[in-house]
Amino acid sequence: MDRTVSCYDCGETYTAAERKRCDCGEPLWFDVDPDGFEWPDAGSVDDMWRYADALPVSDSAGIAPGGTPLFRANRLDDYAGCSLSLKNEGQSPTGSFKDRGSAVGIRGTIESGAEWVGTVSHGNMALSTSAYAASAGLECAVFVPADTPPERLELIARHDPHVFRVDGDYGRLYSDTLSLDVGVNFVNSDTPLRVAGQKTVAYEILEQLAPAVPDAISLPVSSGGQASAIWKALRDLARAGVIDEVPRLFLCQAAACDPIATADRNGDTEVTPVTPAETIAVSIANSEPPSGTHALTAARDTGGAVVSVSDEEIRDATDRIATRAGLSVEPSSAVAVAGVRQLCQRGALEASDDVVAILTGSGYKERYGTDVRSRTIGVDDIAGALTSVVDG
Ligand SMILES: *Cc1c(COP(=O)(O)O)cnc(C)c1O
Ligand SMILES: [Zn+2]
Repeated sequence: MDRTVSCYDCGETYTAAERKRCDCGEPLWFDVDPDGFEWPDAGSVDDMWRYADALPVSDSAGIAPGGTPLFRANRLDDYAGCSLSLKNEGQSPTGSFKDRGSAVGIRGTIESGAEWVGTVSHGNMALSTSAYAASAGLECAVFVPADTPPERLELIARHDPHVFRVDGDYGRLYSDTLSLDVGVNFVNSDTPLRVAGQKTVAYEILEQLAPAVPDAISLPVSSGGQASAIWKALRDLARAGVIDEVPRLFLCQAAACDPIATADRNGDTEVTPVTPAETIAVSIANSEPPSGTHALTAARDTGGAVVSVSDEEIRDATDRIATRAGLSVEPSSAVAVAGVRQLCQRGALEASDDVVAILTGSGYKERYGTDVRSRTIGVDDIAGALTSVVDG
């Protein structure tokens, strides 16, 4: 595996694999051999290490994520407006797709000789990095915003990382940690190792659907790290001749905090910060996304777009996914389905399109205010109560 990293924007390459940013300021990603991709053998492992040949690290160093199910969500087709499949990343060991990047980030940290890994996160990535560090025996430092709710901190604390609750500008915290020289390797949202690991979700989708190729992939976007990873994976597959055409990428944001969608609407070539409002999509509320411009480029390059959905649309999609696909997802995940529905309504996607929505995180970690429909009955009333609902 090639260990050079390069800039998607200006094309500069660097041989120091620890480097995270280009001199031009944009994020870097690992180069791969353009002709070298081959689907794994039938006997290969089911987890993401089946794509080890395409990763910048050699092997697993602890829990192994990946191998999440992809299935047709027929009962959501009417709601979505097209032929919808769901990729359930909520089934990852810590409940979000972040595990793929953590696994590669932890392994890469060990290979670099560092004994500490660090991350900056609103929650899911802190949880994931802490768990994978614990499984590989690395020390872990996590930086979270000072107002992170205690229930989220408790989940993270179970893996015993060093937790720092930080007061102050999150964007600055994020970028300052990328160039620290204190023996801690930071595996933040859009760092090369994390992005390399997150490419595997795209490989999996394409392998699970093969020989079919979806018309579009929809995903929620915050920092832009996952969008960059998927774009990179699809481009690599196209260059290697594994697919003829790259599916369109639709990136979905909560309207309350949608810097990338705003730039797309305005026809800008660069993403600039917005002033955020409150949203239930807490995991994707990044008003100053470090890979925002990268993600915008990905959406446009593939003929996709960036979509904004209201909290009402997000809540509705969260409920529909639970009642029509049987999956409890966090509102930030449901944004991907809310986005597809809106795109179909305005004709950007068609009823005949095969669309994969990535459900990025499980709904079992936090409560988001579902109405509980229930009634209290006496034990003598069981048959009567049931008859009244069965007969309507
Ligand atoms: C982190 C996260 C995202 C956004 O991913 P980025 O790589 O930061 O764009 C989406 N959904 C969930 C559940 C997340 O935890
Ligand atoms: Zn550059």
